[in-house]
Amino acid sequence: MKSSSNTPWSAAESAELYGIHEWGDDHFSVSEQGEVTVNVHFGENTISVPLIDIVQGMKARGLEMPAVLRIENLLDHRIKTLNEAFAEAISQGQYNNHYRGVFPIKVNQQCHVIEEIADFGRHYHHGFEAGSKAELIVAMSQLRDHDSLIICNGFKDAEFVDLGLYAIKIGIPCFFVLETPAELPTILQRSQALGIEPLLGMRIKTTVPVDGYWNKDSGDRSIFGLSTTTLINVVEQLKQADMLHCLQLLHCHLGSQIPNIRNIRSGVLEACRFYTGLIAEGAPMGYLDLGGGLAVDYEGARTNSTHSMNYQLQEYCSNIVETICESLDPLDIPHPVLITESGRSTVAYSSMLLFNILDVRDHRPSPLPEAIPEDGHELLGNLFAALKLVNPDTFQECYNDALYYRDEIRELFRHGQASLRDRALAENITLAVLERIALLLEKVDRVPPEMENLPELLSDIYYGNFSLFQSLPDIWAIDQVFPIMPIHRLDERPTRQAIIADLTCDCDGKIDSFSSPDGLQKTLALHPLKTDEDYFLSVFLVGAYQETLGDLHNLFGDTNVVSVRIDEDGEFSFVHEFQGDSIADVLTYVEYNPKTMQEQFRRVAETAVRQGKISVTMRQKMLTAFKESMQGYTYFEH
Ligand SMILES: *Cc1c(COP(=O)(O)O)cnc(C)c1O
Repeated sequence: MKSSSNTPWSAAESAELYGIHEWGDDHFSVSEQGEVTVNVHFGENTISVPLIDIVQGMKARGLEMPAVLRIENLLDHRIKTLNEAFAEAISQGQYNNHYRGVFPIKVNQQCHVIEEIADFGRHYHHGFEAGSKAELIVAMSQLRDHDSLIICNGFKDAEFVDLGLYAIKIGIPCFFVLETPAELPTILQRSQALGIEPLLGMRIKTTVPVDGYWNKDSGDRSIFGLSTTTLINVVEQLKQADMLHCLQLLHCHLGSQIPNIRNIRSGVLEACRFYTGLIAEGAPMGYLDLGGGLAVDYEGARTNSTHSMNYQLQEYCSNIVETICESLDPLDIPHPVLITESGRSTVAYSSMLLFNILDVRDHRPSPLPEAIPEDGHELLGNLFAALKLVNPDTFQECYNDALYYRDEIRELFRHGQASLRDRALAENITLAVLERIALLLEKVDRVPPEMENLPELLSDIYYGNFSLFQSLPDIWAIDQVFPIMPIHRLDERPTRQAIIADLTCDCDGKIDSFSSPDGLQKTLALHPLKTDEDYFLSVFLVGAYQETLGDLHNLFGDTNVVSVRIDEDGEFSFVHEFQGDSIADVLTYVEYNPKTMQEQFRRVAETAVRQGKISVTMRQKMLTAFKESMQGYTYFEH
């Protein structure tokens, strides 16, 4: 790669290298000027805005990196396409009922996101799924359209049930999905006490095997859902209480990020059998909720691997509709209101994490001396010989020799028989040998297994101004892969291979798995830093699950957040700006009192004045610096 670094390079080549058209789903592309643009459709027109322009706009408004950028238009667009895809499948498949989407609040609870979904979703009667009291309160306060549904999952105490019953009373169809049989008595009792009839659903366990990371969400040992025996028990209890007419919904969640469409088909088929079974038991039914699971192609690979998906949205909708028709039509059972709880696919695209690179540690050897210094260790000569010998026929031998002599010198160093300078030179020559071999490997037919990770070992470390734990927790927790790329300079050839480290002092705070059209890669192609210019990267598709799962590792707090709306004329407005946590903010989260800390530091400084260690003027300067730091951003500031 290095040898060709001077040949011309185009923005189109960058687009291909980073696979932006594969994972970007038409929302992102690379302009001829080499900048990533976000694309918004207005009828036939497409408006493309460079992300770097938005970053400049943020800086001008005092919103430093790192920052989460939300594009409201993309959120709207996802809700629209989901609803329209189901409408299309319903009309094509002669399905005699409608679709009602609900957004599972846990996937992104941020107020502006929920408000936008409620607002824009109203046109499609898009509702909410709530998994806790807090989420139900969010849903009740946001929904103003009484044709939208609220679906309540999770454990429900009397207070939870009362809230849901009140929602029903004011005209919102709010379903309680039974997660365990223990909830039923509470619901029946509260319903009687308040004189409001509940809408009931049952969550079942499907037993079809599901690919992907969340395959344990379904199957016999799933922690959610009722076993078939319990299901029958609940039906009996409802019959006895003369409440079977309240049972109207069947709920089935196969898991999140299901990469394989065949699993979805089998799951829906099984759910339909439960649905018809409950009708045979005398329940009225009328609603079929198929949960989440609609995947996002983070890899852009279009396969059934964990971070990808082997189907398109339209195919997903059609498959569901067809499967329901195939199961219910022969039994003359009316088509139910079709519900899905797509979270990830609805919000992932609209957010990205933007950050700048602070520093690079490259693993290139420093310039080598002409010859071994006179007082240098004799083994250094053997290393030098290995370096001179590297060629396509000898590289394996040179590799073996270099590592052998380097290890010898390390051993001698430990025993005080080689000097610090000997060791430094040994490491440097070894690096030079490995680098030469790595270049050769690009041209050989077969790479010896032990050298497969050489490019990775020699790759640079780019230090990013962000915390993985705060902003990208799934990378740490479940080895999630997100598309990452520079947002500018894409008309220049990226000549370095790198991994990315964050600001935390944690060896897990790094990104070393990257999506690419050729499958996952261990390094990412990046540009060398320029001294006079910031280098900005973006992590894409981070709108789902990341924001509230993040934590305060090393006390890095919430980042700045902006919501931007792009207009038809290509202008954009900052509709919401949210300043990230200050140091004082994060300190209070862990029970410190910033005022007390200021006072404690004042006393220490005052003592130092009395002891003559600092002047009073110096004391004042220190106290001001202390106070200003408290108010500052937890990330690296310029
Ligand atoms: C988490 C969850 C969802 C969201 O799933 P996605 O795969 O993100 O669409 C939907 N329903 C339930 C019950 C969930 O627990």
